Amino acid sequence: MHTRIAALTMFSIPAALAAQSAPVTIRAGELIDGRGGVTTNATIVIEKGVISRIESRGSGAAVYDLSRYTVLPGLIDGHAHVSWYFNRSGRYHTPNDGDTPVQSMLAMAGNAFATLTSGVTTIQSPGSPEDKDLRDFIALGPTPGPRILTSLQPISNPRLTPDSMREIVRLRKAEGADFIKIFASASIRDGGKQTLSQEQLDAICGEAKSLGLRTLVHAHSAESMKAATLAGCTQIEHGVFATNEVLKLMAERGTYFDPQCGLVFRNYLENRAKYEGIGNYNATGFEWMEKAIPMAVAAFKLARATPGLKIVWGTDAVAGAHGRNVEDLICRVQDGGQPPLEAITSATSLGAEAIGLGNHIGRIAPGYQADLIAVDGDPSKDITALRRVVFVMKGGSVYRWDGTGQKPNGPTTNNATDRQPE
Ligand SMILES: [Zn+2]
Repeated sequence: MHTRIAALTMFSIPAALAAQSAPVTIRAGELIDGRGGVTTNATIVIEKGVISRIESRGSGAAVYDLSRYTVLPGLIDGHAHVSWYFNRSGRYHTPNDGDTPVQSMLAMAGNAFATLTSGVTTIQSPGSPEDKDLRDFIALGPTPGPRILTSLQPISNPRLTPDSMREIVRLRKAEGADFIKIFASASIRDGGKQTLSQEQLDAICGEAKSLGLRTLVHAHSAESMKAATLAGCTQIEHGVFATNEVLKLMAERGTYFDPQCGLVFRNYLENRAKYEGIGNYNATGFEWMEKAIPMAVAAFKLARATPGLKIVWGTDAVAGAHGRNVEDLICRVQDGGQPPLEAITSATSLGAEAIGLGNHIGRIAPGYQADLIAVDGDPSKDITALRRVVFVMKGGSVYRWDGTGQKPNGPTTNNATDRQPE
């Protein structure tokens, strides 16, 4: 039942927008539909936050004239840690650094804003308990940020019995988790070896499935990836040590794969001083992350060469990377050899399908949420155009518009007159 309530909240129409009866029109110079289709000179008509139709030309003045830009669905980052931030001492925030929960939440809200205005309109956070309030307040309207799906606290302790793991799955569901996050292998900073047994993974992913929850599994070694796949888990994260054999098995079983290309490792190395000395952010850990950069690109290429494997987009964005999420799509194209349109599809319609929202977001089509972004340039030919976001709309509310004319109308307020064009 909870999932149903969360889904309704996620797509509810803010009061002010509902009051706005006139359709909103957007003229797109180029339109990428999220499923590989590209058209030119289209007008998107939006009513009550939902795309009602797309006209091949459209006449008259559009509310938002984006005819100089390319319009595409808002991006879906399947793996972003919105709660990770640098504290006021310039260090990675840890629970014992003296920051209050309110201070942490303000930092998280900043991360959410940076993420949204960079063109990412939905993220999946695997996960932390603080995500819940942020998710819910963003969904209610006043807090600007991407739609958030969260696992709340992940399951990682290898000493737990399969039965107690099943119990935790049920508890997460009751607490309002959108999915379950599992650590089946060590961190890459500790070598990435398998940590949970087949029996434990069977228990968690089996229980989650019976409750209608998806499962995301952190797994680096091929053995841990195989065990998660055989357990029927939904999606595997990272997979730096993926082999041909395990990727083939994943394709056969329909297991989604979410490999990172480089942003997460580069971000750690660029911000080394802010992380070093905390937990496994030590000399060995940073050595592993340096080694992981070429290995991750190789694993991504191997994945793309695996027929039928569903590769989604997740950046593993941590402190320092929020708002730079698209760098990992650019890496996939430039270093991983992926065609730009295929990369965009993985971050839109396929990403939506993987998180169970394939009928709501990830496409520019009638009946879909008006989650739209515009970029300066043509990302179907030059993926770096994704760095030049000029417009962000989520659920029909505009959170960013760098051009002239109509001003942004989101985040929503209770005063409908605030939203009138100037
Ligand atoms: Zn992660």
